[in-house]
Amino acid sequence: MEYTTRELAQNKRIALVAHDHMKESLLSWASNRIDILKHHQLFATGTTGTLLSSQLQLPIESLLSGPMGGDQQLGARIAEGKIDILVFFWDPMNAAPHEPDVKALLRLAAVWNIPVATNIATADFILDSSHINEIYQARIPDYQGYLAKRTK
Ligand code: PGA
Repeated sequence: MEYTTRELAQNKRIALVAHDHMKESLLSWASNRIDILKHHQLFATGTTGTLLSSQLQLPIESLLSGPMGGDQQLGARIAEGKIDILVFFWDPMNAAPHEPDVKALLRLAAVWNIPVATNIATADFILDSSHINEIYQARIPDYQGYLAKRTK
């Protein structure tokens, strides 16, 4: 695979998702970190986003609920270069009905080199990184090169 770069602006597009047993953790983490989160553009799956926006009083673009297609919507946005960071508190102790969608979302985040936090410690490390408020050049697959090779 050939690679190119994608420039992440100072103002990041952050997606927030939590499975049902993890929502309380995400809500309390987000309210502790509101001073940083408020400087960025926030996205979420339906239930997570509705709870977060009423708790944080911040604008959040809520997509569909995860099991109804919201994880897939976020995955599509990652593939399109429209999400910069994924905070995804998935539940390690309970099976989810939309496990294939969860796996697909995490897979696309890996393909497109998106920073992913699956727990509070990693989410803190990401927000406390100097990159959070700076322009960052992320290495991403060179899609045009990929396509050219497959079609010549
Ligand atoms: P929800 O979806 O925010 O609508 O609960 C999250 C998920 O389960 O992926």
